[in-house]
Amino acid sequence: MRIAFSTLVILILYGTACQNKQVSGIQQIFPNGEPAPVEYFTGRAFNLGLVPNDSIYNTVVGNVYFEPGARSNWHTHPAGQILIITDGVGYHQIKGAPRQTIRKGDVVKCPPNVMHWHGASIDTGLQQIYILPNTEKGIVQWMHPVSDEEYNNVK
Ligand code: MN
Repeated sequence: MRIAFSTLVILILYGTACQNKQVSGIQQIFPNGEPAPVEYFTGRAFNLGLVPNDSIYNTVVGNVYFEPGARSNWHTHPAGQILIITDGVGYHQIKGAPRQTIRKGDVVKCPPNVMHWHGASIDTGLQQIYILPNTEKGIVQWMHPVSDEEYNNVK
């Protein structure tokens, strides 16, 4: 009985340790950070600033975690954006082009002033590091939400 009890305690501790690092099947490098503003995102997303803007680098770097099904609104970046996918599966779409599936290890460029969105897939979350260069030109212009039809790639 004593052995069974210790085994149970170990299993519970192990389970708790795993929960800290594993969310919706993906391994997190950074903590979640702050909830992303609901007016610019559908579903739940979280933003953690990593490099704040300054006049030396004129660059903003951060991490976003999208829960499954979560995505940004349509938007543009006046100076473009680079995404580095660090885990999970998600989508990226430039207006007028097919929706792309993006996965851990993918690097995505969003050209300046090109309308696009990004987010998680329907059943797996997405972790992405974003890099916004040349912030003296601006950072982001938010637009309308991505519809379910657009998200689900229904023509
Ligand atoms: Mn973007």
